[in-house]
Amino acid sequence: RSDAQKFEFQAEVSRLMDIIINSLYSNKDIFLRELISNASDAIDKIRFLALTDKEVLGEGDNTKLDIQIKLDKQNKILSIRDRGIGMTKEDLIKNLGTIAKSGTSAFVEKMQTSGDLNLIGQFGVGFYSVYLVADYVEVISKHNDDKQHVWESKADGAFAISEDTWNEPLGRGTEIRLHLRDEAGEYLEESKLKDLVKKYSEFINFPIYLWASKEVDVEVPADGDESSDEEEKSAESSSGEEEESEKGEDEDTEDKPKTKKVKETTYEWELLNDVKAIWLRNPKEVTDEEYTKFYHSLTKDFSDDKPLAWSHFTAEGDVEFKAVLFVPPKAPDDLYESYHDAYKSNLKLYVRRVFISDEFNELLPKYLNFLRGLVDSDTLPLNVSREMLQQHSSLKTIKKKLIRKALDMIRRIADEDPDEAKDKDKKDVENSSDDEKKGQYAKFWNQFGKSIKLGIIEDATNRNRLAKLLRFESTKSEGKLTSLDQYISRMKSGQKDIFYITGVNKELLEKSPFLERLKKKGYEVIFFTNPIDEYLMQYLMEYEDKKFQNVSKEGLKLGKDSKDKELKESFKELTKWWKGVLASENVEDVKISNRLDDTPCVVVTSKYGWSANMERIMQSQSL
Ligand code: ADP
Ligand code: MG
Repeated sequence: RSDAQKFEFQAEVSRLMDIIINSLYSNKDIFLRELISNASDAIDKIRFLALTDKEVLGEGDNTKLDIQIKLDKQNKILSIRDRGIGMTKEDLIKNLGTIAKSGTSAFVEKMQTSGDLNLIGQFGVGFYSVYLVADYVEVISKHNDDKQHVWESKADGAFAISEDTWNEPLGRGTEIRLHLRDEAGEYLEESKLKDLVKKYSEFINFPIYLWASKEVDVEVPADGDESSDEEEKSAESSSGEEEESEKGEDEDTEDKPKTKKVKETTYEWELLNDVKAIWLRNPKEVTDEEYTKFYHSLTKDFSDDKPLAWSHFTAEGDVEFKAVLFVPPKAPDDLYESYHDAYKSNLKLYVRRVFISDEFNELLPKYLNFLRGLVDSDTLPLNVSREMLQQHSSLKTIKKKLIRKALDMIRRIADEDPDEAKDKDKKDVENSSDDEKKGQYAKFWNQFGKSIKLGIIEDATNRNRLAKLLRFESTKSEGKLTSLDQYISRMKSGQKDIFYITGVNKELLEKSPFLERLKKKGYEVIFFTNPIDEYLMQYLMEYEDKKFQNVSKEGLKLGKDSKDKELKESFKELTKWWKGVLASENVEDVKISNRLDDTPCVVVTSKYGWSANMERIMQSQSL
């Protein structure tokens, strides 16, 4: 079109489109899921605005918050239309081409190695998957604040935008028209689209309709002369064979002209999905497979990985809400990078089935930001601003309950894992389904153990619960992970403290002279080899009434030895001399101790000072 305004795609976006266009990726189906997900997001947005301003919805058909799919076999066009928020001209330019999202280059990079196109939605560039199946795409959009515009592109590095003066007015929302490539003809089959919607868009909370053909029997006058033009046309277009009605239905013949039955193809909107939200269902009636699929659609992670655990519950009382929480199978790469500054919760908040936000940081503490899921509350008010909602007193109650449930859920991973050492008699009761649960807690610990440690540091209220989830290696764990409860069950009689040592790695620590005596006497010592462990142990002072003792620090007590006093006496002069040699700025004290065996002496740190390992960490950080 001559009056169209031309734009170039931002460079990264252009590269992304090239990759998609030339992709040999066989699962091209994913484009439909991405488009439906965008339509659903757009409806969520207008519905949210309508909470505080009913006017934005308009009237008539504009108030129908649904998604419609239509096929034009003749022209090979597949179109998807929503009555969502729509896009202004400005939005079209920015969202579909000129502003690259942060995920764009990450995704391009991934695709150049061994990336899976299936994950495109996670990177915030799902729209461009349309070019897996189409070589020309039109986006027609009407936003309340602007006129209707058309965006179009053949993915040749450029797109064009025109004011729409020729298409039917949309009222509000967006219609995406895909001009399908020749080899993508299957997407013009109704059955294919029905299958895809079932498969991928089961958890979309708005009705998805297909303009579907239907064979119906119609009665037309048997006498050709009397049939109207219109009837003739529809009879022609029907694919079924004309059939004489054989049944004796025409009993009351009277004066009526004789009729016959013919098959006729008509079209109507066929609802493809069941919009009952999964979290409103009874947990007993939801299958594991459904939860897994729900997790995939919630996170746009369509890999084969299953979530490690989930918890679906209803909270009653002053604050009522339903929630589904998931522990993902893997931690995102940047989980801890942005921990302090760019913290973002991953829970979706709904109020009475209306999506409010997925950036509601008030629902979970920072250290649980790896959890995915949603909360739907009937108690929160609907017609207030997001800011007001953020300050609502119920949020504190919700948060408290969510933390409890989350920690229970994590603990259950351990309880159900046969690899987690348990009491002998408990082991016998375990059943065959354990295969799937085997090793799950170690998996959890590898991915999210740091979050548990951050929790111990940050959440004093739940410190003990979190400490129960802690895993580590020790002088007795034989290369496996062990827990504080297991440590305590192995404690020697008379042992009061829980012993640990911190350092760079287990191999070095095992050779430490600090362990000589402890090992010989059969005491177990925990290895803490992660930098965060030093901070952790500043907060974790005790567990089940037992204190923690860093064995490289002053204060290690291994029970009284009868020779202690004697030794102290006979080496009195030596210690005195030594203390004199090492000036007081070098050491605080020189003492006789029973902590060593072969090694003649060691330098220990004072009880409240930094351990040698902490010194090392602080030094490396200040570099
Ligand atoms: P994402 O959905 O993760 O944001 P997409 O590439 O799928 O990424 O979509 C890019 C953007 O285009 C969306 O964020 C949205 O602003 C806009 N958009 C896409 N489809 C629609 C639609 N049907 N209605 C309104 N806006 C849309
Ligand atoms: Mg999207």
